[in-house]
Formats: sequence, structure tokens, C-alpha cells
Amino acid sequence: MHLGVILNRVFRTKYNPLFQYIVKHQNEIDKLYFILPLEDLTDASEVKRDYYHKVVKGFVNALDKHDIQPHIVTYEKLGELAETLALSHVLVAKDIMSYHKEIYDYPHVKKAFENHQVTVIGQRVNHYFEPTKTFNKQQQPYKVFTSFYKANRKDLVHTPKKNYQFKHLAQIAEKGLNQSDLNFKNNKDLEQLARKRWGEFLNGDIAHYDKLIDDVSQDFVSGLGKYLAYGLLDIREIINDLLEGYDSDETNYEGFIREVIFREFYYVLMTQYPEAATKSFSEKYRNMKWSYNKAHFEAWKKGQTGYPIVDAAMKKLNRTGYMHNRLRMIVSQFLTKNLFIDWTWGENYFRQNLIDYDNASNVHGWQWSASTGTDAVPYFRMFNPIRQSEKFDSNGYFIKSEIELFKEVPTHFIHNPTLYRSELYEKYNIEFDKDYPNSIVNHNESRKYVLEKFKSINKY
Ligand SMILES: Cc1cc2nc3c(=O)[nH]c(=O)nc-3n(C[C@H](O)[C@H](O)[C@H](O)COP(=O)(O)OP(=O)(O)OC[C@H]3O[C@@H](n4cnc5c(N)ncnc54)[C@H](O)[C@@H]3O)c2cc1C
Repeated sequence: MHLGVILNRVFRTKYNPLFQYIVKHQNEIDKLYFILPLEDLTDASEVKRDYYHKVVKGFVNALDKHDIQPHIVTYEKLGELAETLALSHVLVAKDIMSYHKEIYDYPHVKKAFENHQVTVIGQRVNHYFEPTKTFNKQQQPYKVFTSFYKANRKDLVHTPKKNYQFKHLAQIAEKGLNQSDLNFKNNKDLEQLARKRWGEFLNGDIAHYDKLIDDVSQDFVSGLGKYLAYGLLDIREIINDLLEGYDSDETNYEGFIREVIFREFYYVLMTQYPEAATKSFSEKYRNMKWSYNKAHFEAWKKGQTGYPIVDAAMKKLNRTGYMHNRLRMIVSQFLTKNLFIDWTWGENYFRQNLIDYDNASNVHGWQWSASTGTDAVPYFRMFNPIRQSEKFDSNGYFIKSEIELFKEVPTHFIHNPTLYRSELYEKYNIEFDKDYPNSIVNHNESRKYVLEKFKSINKY
């Protein structure tokens, strides 16, 4: 066979199932080509675009050290290249959820190659489970996380490392051409950095994970999301490490494993119900009359809602491409409940900005907050952004780290500054709607409105 190996979001040289496949099947391969399709991120934030390019460049450099030069083309040119190279087969990662555009996902890519008479071989690369192997006794996907977790946790086992020699791959691979205008000289290997950071987390912060997972004033989380999104690390490598260290600290390791299984749960659901990417998972909410208030949406995006915890979180996202999970819950509830804006708007904004964007986790995260998802937060348990702020940023460190204006202001004023307008003006010279916005909605009023909207659908 003439095999093209599509290197999309599997940007790692170690633990790479695509390379393992080649070594296992090398006797069947007559010609081998590595192909790296570049994603179009023109509508993504600069921070996200830069990170993607850094990862790709680092990976191409790492391959080059092993004497492997892939063809580098845009997605649009893949079919043309398949014809030029007379490919009979392509090897494609079939479980990637972090692609930037839907047309880069497996079903679309598979169809595109098949239209060019190329046979597609799908391979697991970035998730642990094969979706159908996680099903319940009725051969249906679990729709409640706890049941999924209980049923599948026991199947996490140590995966033996399968070695491959790059010199074997380089010997049989044809050299490719860089058809992009990216310059690939001297770039940092982010795979190495990712493995180093992960090791540091295991030697340090995981010890606080279970207790402090929701504390946004300190960062005790792993930052693993972005490494998994670009395939810099394999989830099986992560699980191996977690199982190896497990006995030393069961509570924290189990807490972490539970979160990683969340990612698998949403992945399985997304493969079975792809329509949930744009439609409410719960059918009864599909005709909900959401708000499409652009002024409110802009204020949310820019971090100008008058609720400091929301504003600081959005500023952090815009500045760094990252947001802590508790803050993702707070800002998504604020958008879909307090502002009653269609969750797909928020989902799309996160897609453009989150470096660790993952379609399955993001869509289901948003639908959890909007109460339209499976196993979602009940609509009557709406977050109060002020209480959330007091509870999870009690000393105000996070808010102060993003909103300069509040740096010298005592903490008790900053969770709900609109309430202390006159004191803030008199003592700290903060003028509302000039230096900082008045809150754009009243929490109690919006809560009443939202409850009525949801109740009117649930009464039938
Ligand atoms: C509205 C909303 C949108 C989200 N969008 C994304 C997204 O686009 N990409 C993404 O990877 N996660 C998303 N999440 C889940 C979660 O917020 C992130 O996985 C986490 O914050 C990433 O940071 P970390 O790696 O430091 O997390 P850690 O706390 O260190 O967790 C380790 C890993 O566990 C997994 N994980 C943890 N929490 C969740 C969760 N609730 N759902 C699914 N997987 C989880 C992730 O793979 C994460 O990297 C979203 C959550 C919400 C509420």
C-alpha cells in the first residue's frame, strides 16, 4: 500500500500510536508519507493561534532531528496531495475532539479521502476508551456521569509501552515538502516541556488536588488540558503514571482520575450524539427563546459585566487562553442564566479563545451550565456570581490579579462592588460606569426570569 500518515493533533514523538501502527504493518507498506495538515485559525484569538503554531513548529523540528520531513499543507490541499502521491490508504486519528473547525474532524476527513478513492484507517490516539466498549447492558451510552465512572473505572489499566525506532520509520518514509509559509528553524520542543510540567504536577500540586480543586485564588490544577488537546501527551501515558503513583495518595489520585474520566464521558457522548454540538441535548429545550442581546454579549466577552469574578475570569481568558474550571462554570452560568444568552454563543467564543479547546468537553460543559445537557445542573440551582466569588476567591487574590483597579481595595468590597458604590467612590475614588461598570443585570431579577422560562417548558 501507499500509505499517508495524517499528523493532526498528535504532535508527539513518544507514545504515538500512529508510529506504532507503521512499525507493526511495515511489511504491507510500499511507500510511506507523513502529512501534516495545517488548521486555519484565522478566526481564533492570537494567543491560541500562536500556541498552535509553536506546537506544530516544535513537532516538525523534533521529527527533523529523526530525519523525518512531513509534507506540510493546508486541509484544503489534502485531496490534491493524496492524488499527486497516489495514496491508496491514509492512517488518521479517529478520536480527536480538539480540532478548531468541525470540517477537520474524523467523519469529515474520512469522507473527503473516500471521495478521492483513498481507504481510511482510523486509529485511537488521544482518548482512552473505544466508545462502544463503554456502553451499558442495553448497549447504550451512559448518560449519567456517575454510572459511566462506576462502570468503566475498573478498565483503566497499565498499558505496556510499545517502542519504535525512528531510524526504521525514517528509512521507509519519503521526504515531504513544506508548502506553508511557516518557518521551522530552532523551535522549542513543547512535547518535552509538557512531560516536564506533568512530572512536576505529580511531584507537587496533585497532593492538594481533591481539597483545593475549586479554589481559584491558587492554581493547584494540572494544566493538562492543552497538552491533551494537541496530543503532546497520550492519555494512556497519563493513566500509567496515575496508576503507578496511586497507592501513595489514593484520595488525590482518584480525584484526578475522576476528572480525566469526565473527558472520556463527554467524548463518548459526542461520538454518539454529534448533533449536541449545536442543539440542546435535552430535546424539550430546543425551542427555548434565548436572548441574543449583543450589548450584553460584548460586555461578557470583554469582562465588563460589573461582577468582578466574571470580569476577571474573562480578562484572564482573553489574555492567556486559559480559565480555571470553576471559573468556566461561573462565566457560563452567568451568560446562559443571568443574561439568558444562547449557550452556543458562549461555546463558540470559548472555541475561538481557549487554547485547550475540546469540542466534547466544551459543548457538554456549556450544556451543563445551561441546564440543557445530559446530567446537567438543574435549572433551579442557578449560581449566584457573588456567592461564588465569596466562596471560591474568598481572599480576592484572583480578582485582584486581573483587575488592577481593585488591588488596594479591601476584599469585602470587591465581590459585589455595585453595592458599595458610594464607599468605593469616597474612599478609593472609583467612579462607576467610568472606572468600572455597574452590574449589567440584577441577579435576583434575572433568576426570577430564568426560573419562569424553564418552568414554562417543564410544566408540559
Ligand atoms: C463551560 C465549560 C467549558 C469547558 N471547555 C473545555 C474545553 O474546551 N476543553 C477542555 O479540555 N475542558 C473544558 N472544560 C472542562 C474543564 O474546565 C477543563 O478540562 C479544565 O479546566 C482544564 O484545566 P486543567 O487541565 O488544568 O484541569 P485539571 O483540573 O488539572 O484536570 C485534568 C484534566 O481532567 C479533564 N477534566 C477536568 N475537568 C473536566 C470537565 N469538567 N470536563 C471534562 N474534562 C475535564 C481535562 O482533560 C483536564 O485537563 C470546560 C468546562 C466548562 C464548565
